[in-house]
Amino acid sequence: MQLPTHVLVGIFIQYVVNSLLPTPTWLAIVLILTFSFFSHFIVDAIAKITYHPPTREPGKFWLYWHSFVYGFGIFLILLYFQIYWIGILAANAVDIWDWCFLRNYATRTSRPDWGKKYYIHPIANKIRTMLFSRLPNFNHTKSGILPELLLYIGWLILYFATL
Ligand SMILES: [Zn+2]
Repeated sequence: MQLPTHVLVGIFIQYVVNSLLPTPTWLAIVLILTFSFFSHFIVDAIAKITYHPPTREPGKFWLYWHSFVYGFGIFLILLYFQIYWIGILAANAVDIWDWCFLRNYATRTSRPDWGKKYYIHPIANKIRTMLFSRLPNFNHTKSGILPELLLYIGWLILYFATL
């Protein structure tokens, strides 16, 4: 799924763990790291029901939606990083490793297949086949932005309700 979704899931996991184990302990950190890291695979496995074309689509819609999600994702990171950086980083570690590190290096060195065997996203694909094969595929459907858009609106309501 998109950056803000993973960021919000990481924040949520750290928030829940910190509420249950208020004093910072090694156990709390290990739990946050583990749950946030593995949340990425579950979230990406469900991404089937969201607008998420694997490559850039022509037209303005793809560009507007992706500009929005990256902008909003960075905004959320800036807003929460000081407190929730462990959850945020762990929830995005899979994308950081596969896309920011491996794929980015492959693109920069013009070796498109470089490092592909070290990608960890195939785990999400396996979970998708195992658990979510019955879900409809909206990866190319524009209204597929709705599940994530509703999540972001939900966060907005919660944010202003708890100010
Ligand atoms: Zn991912």
